[in-house]
Amino acid sequence: MTITLQSLASDRWVTPTTGFVDIPSAVDGRVVARLSAAGLDFARMASHARNTGGPVLRELTFHARADKLRALAVHLGQHKDVLYRLAGDTGANRRDNAIDIEGGIGTLSAYASRGRRELPDAKFALEGEVEGLAKGGTFVGQHLLSPLHGVAVHINAFNFPCWGLLEKFAPAFLAGVPVIIKPATATAYVTEALVRLMHESGILPPGSLQMICGSVGDLLDHLTGQDVVSFTGSIETSNRIRNHPNIAKHSVRFVAERDSLNASVLGDDVTPEQPEFALFIREIVREMTVKTGQKCTAIRRILVPKTREAAVIAALKASLAEVRLGDPRVDEKVMGPLVSRAQRAAVCGQIAILLSEAEIVFGDPGQRGGEGIDAESGAFISPVLLRVVDPATAQRVHDTEAFGPVATVIAYDGIDQAVDLARRGEGSLVASVFTYDRKVAEAIVLGIAPYHGRVLIVDRDCAKESTGHGSPLPSLVHGGPGRAGGGEELGGLRGVYHYMQRTAVQSSPGRLSALTGAWCNGAPTSLADVHPFKRNYDELVVGDTIETSSRSITLDDIEHFAEFTGDTFYAHMDEVAAKANPFFPGRVAHGYLILAFAAGLFVDPAPGPLLANYGLDNLRFLKPVSPDDSIRVRLTVKQKSPARKPEYGEVRWDVEVINQNGEPVARYDLLTMSARAA
Ligand code: NAP
Repeated sequence: MTITLQSLASDRWVTPTTGFVDIPSAVDGRVVARLSAAGLDFARMASHARNTGGPVLRELTFHARADKLRALAVHLGQHKDVLYRLAGDTGANRRDNAIDIEGGIGTLSAYASRGRRELPDAKFALEGEVEGLAKGGTFVGQHLLSPLHGVAVHINAFNFPCWGLLEKFAPAFLAGVPVIIKPATATAYVTEALVRLMHESGILPPGSLQMICGSVGDLLDHLTGQDVVSFTGSIETSNRIRNHPNIAKHSVRFVAERDSLNASVLGDDVTPEQPEFALFIREIVREMTVKTGQKCTAIRRILVPKTREAAVIAALKASLAEVRLGDPRVDEKVMGPLVSRAQRAAVCGQIAILLSEAEIVFGDPGQRGGEGIDAESGAFISPVLLRVVDPATAQRVHDTEAFGPVATVIAYDGIDQAVDLARRGEGSLVASVFTYDRKVAEAIVLGIAPYHGRVLIVDRDCAKESTGHGSPLPSLVHGGPGRAGGGEELGGLRGVYHYMQRTAVQSSPGRLSALTGAWCNGAPTSLADVHPFKRNYDELVVGDTIETSSRSITLDDIEHFAEFTGDTFYAHMDEVAAKANPFFPGRVAHGYLILAFAAGLFVDPAPGPLLANYGLDNLRFLKPVSPDDSIRVRLTVKQKSPARKPEYGEVRWDVEVINQNGEPVARYDLLTMSARAA
């Protein structure tokens, strides 16, 4: 039965009636689904996102949005079978689909955790420390990040119908920006099912997610400077969208993840007997065949030392000969077809271009047969390994992406040439280097790093746990410079920041503290009548402060501390040697002694709501403390953040240790857990 795909516009499912495009199964060519965006009101969709989705999302804090992402991940995990069932027709086998489906759900969870851990329970985030902007300390500044008031338009590639949506949706949602997604036609039936699950979960606020099945119509004409277009796909389409007159006119933020001629380099230290050689061969074959080579991170260029070229080709041929083409719906060990016959025609066209400077050493693009497969109607193709004839002059291999199970061996003569060849890709998502030699690793990594978003060094020590050449991790950069996207740093919180504006706020310390809810030096304090450690989390007020009595530090204290801890560093023990040191006037107290005495001054000893001290941040020793100096402490509530458990919250305290002349000798943030009100 052919599925008629619906679009999700203004929180309603819309069924098209005209202008259908058929989507064939990659495996047997039967029409799986049809779609059309005819009749959608794109301007209305954009305004629904801005006027309904945006305001509701911005009412939530980062933590509330993170909690929704987690709930969504759980919901999708419970209902993922429907996605697996549909994805069989995309040509991917079950293992490939796990990368897409489980990987996508895992990415949602990862963003949920990071949002909880690294973003505040607030509607905006602060970046960096407060900076003094004038000598007298009455004018300060800080960067504030707040969600854009627009819509994120996500135009996605066909190869990851689930992960592609979720890895872009999660950061936008976490930032507080509603999304309109446009999946690629070839696999839109899987994405539509995913969006249906997300919508039906009831977890997402109205207007936060819409979907266009079919073309984007005139949507780009309605975008403004508060909107973001995030594109994944080919460089040609990317350029077309980037150069759209309205995108240029309104400086609409444009983020691109595009095709990438990723390289893998075998170091010239590696002999066929070393484990790195076998690891290299295994990784190349895996990258050529997982998802039938339709991965933006797949290895396209295989750089090997000239002296090892024959051995590498022989080993690759032996491994590729074991790859079986087959129906991925029934056997998860086979390599399935490309996503469509149109894609196969495109790949064959790209191989023809590569053949102007390379020869085929394995495979035959014309071979489409295999066990129990429909060679006529399906989009099958065998793996194809090419070898560049003259590496010094070849150029097509560095700019032609055959988006299928196709890679090319390029022999290099010396590490300098290997680096030069890798750079000719003009910017890639990822490169991998297989070596067990420190110098080789250093020369290649430093030589190619500016041209790559990610570089992976693989050797026998990390091979077991390495996630491999092709797997981006949600916590690290995904994206690449130059043709791979243009220097956009995606992944981690950087991905979230794309949907927020960074604003420098400048004011008096008091105004800034009132705005941000975080006390800063110079902002008013109120002297607490009760020791703040006796107050529970909810009773504490940012700016509450106490000043302790003072105590002197004697030479006996210093010697006692030195003997007790074993820290007999000369600056504490030897007057002559300490004096010769440019930082000290003579023997001085240990920094750790100052910290310990400071705690002795401010701690309230009785059991109470303060549960634990879990660390110090930003510790600086500002001035030496000499024997017979005295110190006192000013302790101020700096910031409060609820913890994941409702029983307690995190409190950040500003601790200033001051000497007898009123000069600060140490400053740090003390981090504690304090119990909440019952
Ligand atoms: P594509 O042909 O460029 O299409 C990408 C998306 O753009 C599809 O959703 C497509 O919709 C849409 N599109 C096409 N023309 C458009 C227009 N004029 N206005 C607005 N949208 C338009 O790429 P693809 O074949 O789907 O994907 C394969 C490519 O993606 C490869 O080159 C691969 O390297 C790249 N990729 C890169 C990354 C990365 O992270 N760098 C990740 C995945 C894939 P229709 O399908 O409806 O035409």
